[in-house]
Amino acid sequence: MNEAALYKIGYGLYVLSANEDGFDNGCIINTVTQVTNTPNRIAVTVNKLNKTHDMIMATAKFNVTVLSTDVPFDEFKHFGFQSGHDVNKFADADKYERTKNGLLIAPQYANAYISGSVFHSIDLGTHTMFIADVTDAEILNDKESVTYAYYHKNIKPQPQNNPQPAGKVAYRCKICGYIHEGELPEDFVCPLCKHPASDFEKI
Ligand code: FE
Repeated sequence: MNEAALYKIGYGLYVLSANEDGFDNGCIINTVTQVTNTPNRIAVTVNKLNKTHDMIMATAKFNVTVLSTDVPFDEFKHFGFQSGHDVNKFADADKYERTKNGLLIAPQYANAYISGSVFHSIDLGTHTMFIADVTDAEILNDKESVTYAYYHKNIKPQPQNNPQPAGKVAYRCKICGYIHEGELPEDFVCPLCKHPASDFEKI
């Protein structure tokens, strides 16, 4: 089996946001799919390690901000490589907008948003899939949506900017470019993007 075939699936990239007891939080996901259109329903799947996951579990509401191709790597670092358990990602209130459901979106590098109200959730082990009614949706501008393939090709730091440490065994995270020196334990988790050892390649 060639697991790289899974990278050929077309994905977008999104900020998934929630609000619980007045606290706003969000994370990066690539798993948003429309599943029905009568009524409009979408599925989002999110890792249980994310605080946003627990907030959606508790409140059954979320916003999806659809990111556009002008999104810089810093936006992924901001929403993807740090945890709402440690920081308030929405502290800079001027950069964000609150939609009708009371939740924030991150419109700066985005072209649309979709609001969801969860009616069913499926436990997938490491992740939960939330299936939600679309309660609101707006287009913000006509920029192109960013894809996961575009992120890997044009946004993520390229290997030449992140060279192999001379003469050492090292592994590079295929998601964010982080380099780990030395052998990689099977249960290793990338300290930047939290992806598992299976997303690392030997360099
Ligand atoms: Fe990583």
